[in-house]
Amino acid sequence: GETFDAGFFVRWLEAAASAVDREAGLLTELDSAIGDADHGANLKRGFAAVAELLAKEPPATPGAVLVAAGRQLISTVGGASGPLYGTLLRRTGKALGEDRGVDRERLAEAFGVGVAAVSQLGGAQVGDKTMLDALVPAAEALRISFGAARAAAEEGALATVPLQARKGRASYLGERSIGHQDPGATSSALLFAELAGTARA
Ligand code: ADP
Ligand code: MG
Ligand code: MG
Repeated sequence: GETFDAGFFVRWLEAAASAVDREAGLLTELDSAIGDADHGANLKRGFAAVAELLAKEPPATPGAVLVAAGRQLISTVGGASGPLYGTLLRRTGKALGEDRGVDRERLAEAFGVGVAAVSQLGGAQVGDKTMLDALVPAAEALRISFGAARAAAEEGALATVPLQARKGRASYLGERSIGHQDPGATSSALLFAELAGTARA
């Protein structure tokens, strides 16, 4: 099928930086209900640094773009989401290897590896009310299409509302975490929406 080059991944991460900037208020509002009200600011800082790095020294392969972006997130975001999203991008990038063009099937497989690394790092599974509730179904649905991945991530984020958090800060609230959408699952849905948008552009 169609292959995607390093430029495609740079455009995706630039679009992600814009989306995070635009939605920072919502992400922080969600995090103020069940966390410490910094998720929007954390991601805004992190993705702005990613966009700046990629503009300055754009890597030549999709894998190198994702690895560089992941490292930048880890070094610029203090909260839990920095190492988690950093690991997602870094491990997905490593799984892509050195190819100059990757197709969607290959990307879906690599995201599966990245998402598994996030689960291992944070000890969370689907149903724990974290970003994994959006990331796991999105990586799976990416085998079908970019649009399916976007829809699966959105559905997964909405499905966190009735759940009780079992990982991260929100878990400290116990039953009081029920009835709120998880901020990280929401930002994950945003990232997959931008991926689908970049693929369609
Ligand atoms: P912090 O909680 O350190 O302030 P953020 O507010 O930036 O960090 O990110 C919070 C989000 O991180 C949560 O909404 C959740 O989706 C995600 N998260 C937290 N802990 C974990 C974990 N152990 N595994 C997966 N995701 C997690
Ligand atoms: Mg927070
Ligand atoms: Mg914090």
